[in-house]
Amino acid sequence: MRSHGAALGRSIIAQAYGLGFDAAGIAELAVPHTLAPYQAWLEAGLHGSMQYLAGEGARLRADARLPHPGATHAIVVAASYGGTEPGGPVARYARGDDYHEVLRARLRELHAFIEAQLGHTVNARPYVDSSPILERDLAQRAGLGWFGKNTMLITPRAGSFVFLASLFVELDLEASAPFEADRCGRCTRCLDACPTRALPAPRVLDATRCISYLTIEHRGSIPEALRERLGGLLYGCDICNDVCPWNQRFAKPAMLDAFAPRALFAESQDREGTRALAREILMMSPADYAAAFRGSAIKRAKLWMLQRNACVVLGNVGTVEDLAVLEAMTAHEHDVVREHAVWAATRLRTTPTFTAPTMPRPAARP
Ligand code: SF4
Ligand code: SF4
Repeated sequence: MRSHGAALGRSIIAQAYGLGFDAAGIAELAVPHTLAPYQAWLEAGLHGSMQYLAGEGARLRADARLPHPGATHAIVVAASYGGTEPGGPVARYARGDDYHEVLRARLRELHAFIEAQLGHTVNARPYVDSSPILERDLAQRAGLGWFGKNTMLITPRAGSFVFLASLFVELDLEASAPFEADRCGRCTRCLDACPTRALPAPRVLDATRCISYLTIEHRGSIPEALRERLGGLLYGCDICNDVCPWNQRFAKPAMLDAFAPRALFAESQDREGTRALAREILMMSPADYAAAFRGSAIKRAKLWMLQRNACVVLGNVGTVEDLAVLEAMTAHEHDVVREHAVWAATRLRTTPTFTAPTMPRPAARP
């Protein structure tokens, strides 16, 4: 393969910024630096039921050259999804259109630029959070940022409310300098703020306790001991990002209008809005769900999972006015929803003066 000078790499990175990405760099594909901690994390069972991360998924993640044989480098980008939006019951990343296809389209534009620069075709493939790649490792090696103690990749100029994506290329480019510094310093805000104690140590996530896992990935009953801790969080959790000073100073508006919150979520930040959203989800038919979330990342959770989550939310931040809809759910066809509806209704009946946990904090601005 012909080697290309640093100038081509610089022009590709400049073009990535020109396409609106908030950070960009180039990494040589290799064995991830963080492979050993990743394997230890799997061995400890901290991935819960996310079996796609283990087995064959782990084998492929052990070497970034495996998913696309022939590719030698990746152009890695970060795209803000709107860390300046207020907090609410739905994690910011999931409030707009599904990011996978939107970002793939941008990476295809970058691919076309590379081919135009070189005057010939280049084999390449865009990856957006859907392939067996340790994206944060790749992003760190491409110089985009460092691993925060909350396990997120933190970019120094846009924080961690960013999607990571990459274009794998069969092209010999000069790699960017990796981001070696740890800019967390002595801060432990994310560890201290996690409501379920899902960060037992810096850079270690116990997914089985994490609200994002429990509300999006987990396909069973939410452990009763953790339900109250969910507060008003219906889908995902941004708390360990919200409290991070790097986000409070540097979070950016969404890179694309496609990531702007859909109308269903625009008014749901406060307690009343959260209750209204939870009730709306409980009353959805499969057809309503398909129509409301067409083209949305939220569909990663099935309707019954959203309804399970909505029961927990109403059990936490609801009032006796929400009892009727919860009681209707006690006849739901899915046993997990029925069980959560009974839990929530019992909670509202037996603790009428219950004061809900505080809603998630909006990202404070400096
Ligand atoms: S996403 Fe929420 S529950 Fe998960 S580690 Fe962060 S603060 Fe804790
Ligand atoms: S909150 Fe503090 S410790 Fe956690 S990721 Fe941000 S800077 Fe690092």
